[in-house]
Amino acid sequence: MNHFEPRDGELACEDVPLRRIAEAVGTPVYVYSSATLERHFTVLRDALTGAGLKDPLIAYAVKANPNLAVLRTLGALGAGADTVSEGEVRRALAAGIPAERIVFSGVGKTAAEIAFALDAGVAEINVESEPEMRLVDRIAAERGVRAQIAIRVNPDVAAGGHAKIATGKSENKFGVSFSEAERLYAQASNAVGLKPVGVACHIGSQITDLAPMAEAFGKMRGLVERLRAEGLSVERLDLGGGLGVPYFNQPTPPSPADYAAMIGRVMQGLDIQLAFEPGRVIAANAGVLLARVLHVHERPEGRRFLVLDAAMNDLLRPAMYDAWHDIRPVAPRAGEAGPYDVVGPVCETGDTFARDRALPPFEAGDLVAFMSAGAYGASMASEYNSRPLAPEVLVKGDRYAVVRARPTYEEMLAREAAAPWL
Ligand code: PLP
Repeated sequence: MNHFEPRDGELACEDVPLRRIAEAVGTPVYVYSSATLERHFTVLRDALTGAGLKDPLIAYAVKANPNLAVLRTLGALGAGADTVSEGEVRRALAAGIPAERIVFSGVGKTAAEIAFALDAGVAEINVESEPEMRLVDRIAAERGVRAQIAIRVNPDVAAGGHAKIATGKSENKFGVSFSEAERLYAQASNAVGLKPVGVACHIGSQITDLAPMAEAFGKMRGLVERLRAEGLSVERLDLGGGLGVPYFNQPTPPSPADYAAMIGRVMQGLDIQLAFEPGRVIAANAGVLLARVLHVHERPEGRRFLVLDAAMNDLLRPAMYDAWHDIRPVAPRAGEAGPYDVVGPVCETGDTFARDRALPPFEAGDLVAFMSAGAYGASMASEYNSRPLAPEVLVKGDRYAVVRARPTYEEMLAREAAAPWL
C-alpha cells in the first residue's frame, strides 16, 4: 500500500496535490511519501519480529534511495544502513544512523574506505574475497583494532528480476563459495586484525519467488551449523535484501509476512541474530517521478510519441533493465486509451520509458507520474546530456520540503575548470 492516491480528482502524495509540487519546484521532480516509507519499514519489521526472529538488524540498503531525508525518516524508526561505499557510510552517519547499525558491503572496497569504516566503528564489514579479507586484516592490525567482519557467500542460486541484478550464481562477482567461506572464517578467527562475527549473502533484487531465497537461506543455515560444529562463534547471519515489489504488470511478489514466515521456518531453532538489507521493498513504492508532457508527436507511419521533460538520465531503469513503470496522468484525462511510445529528450533511442503503452489522450503541458520510482530512481540518475539532476521532495501529511534542490547551470559549470594550457 502507498500514499499516492487521487484527492479531489487529482493525484496527490499524502495530502499534497502533485500539481502543487510540480508548479512550485518544476519538473522533472522526484516526490517521496514519508508515510509510505514508514509503513513499508514497520510492516517488514513487525513481520520479522512477529516470526520470532531474535532482535533482527534491518539495515536499509542506502543505494536504493540515499537521500538524507529518506535515511533520517527510516533511521528514526530504528533502521540500520547497508552501505557499499564510503559515501554511503558518510550519508548514513550524517542522517544520524549509529555506526553499530551500519553494515559495509561491496565487492571492491578501497583501503581508504576500509580505514574510514573501521574508524567510524561500523557493525560489520562484509568481505567478499580472500584478498579483501587480507586487506581488512592489515588495515585493522595497523590501527590496533579487530575488524568485525562477515564473510559474504555466493550460494549459487539463481534469483532476481533481471540478469543485471541477479547476484547469487557462482559466475557472478559477488562473494565466495561455501568451502572457501569455511576456510576463510577459520583463518579470520586467528587473525590479529579480524573478528569474524557472521556470514552474509544477497542473491539478487526484485525477487518475486520465495523458493530460491528459501534454498539459499537453508544453505546459509547449514554453513552456520558447520562453522559452529568446528567450535567457531557465529553471532549474525545477514540474509541481504532482494524482496520484489509490484511494478504493476509483474508477477505479484510475496508479502513481507510470507517472506518473514519462510525465514522463521528455515531458521527455526537456530539461535542467531539475523540481519536484512532491504532497499526496493521499502523505497520503490514510496516515490514517484513527476514529469510534464512537452509534445505529442504523431509520425505519419502511425507511431505516436509522448515526449516528456524527464529522460533516461532521471530514471534509468527502463533503459537499463527493460523495467516497467506504471505511468499515470496527474489530472484525469477523458477519452479512449491509445498506444503511446513514452520517450525523453536524450539523444538515444534507449531513452524510451514505454512502447505501445495504452494511455489516455494527453496534451502538451499535462503532468504524468512514473509510479514505483522511489528506489533506484534518483540514486541512479546522472547529468547525461548536461541535464541538471532532478530535485527531490519529501512529503509528510500536508507539508512538503525540497530535500535536494535542482542544481543551477552555473553550479554545474562551476564544478569544472579549464586546463592551464587552455
Ligand atoms: N544488499 C546488497 C549487498 C545489494 O547488492 C543490494 C542491491 O543490489 C541490496 C542489499 C538491496 O537489494 P533490494 O533493493 O533488492 O532489497
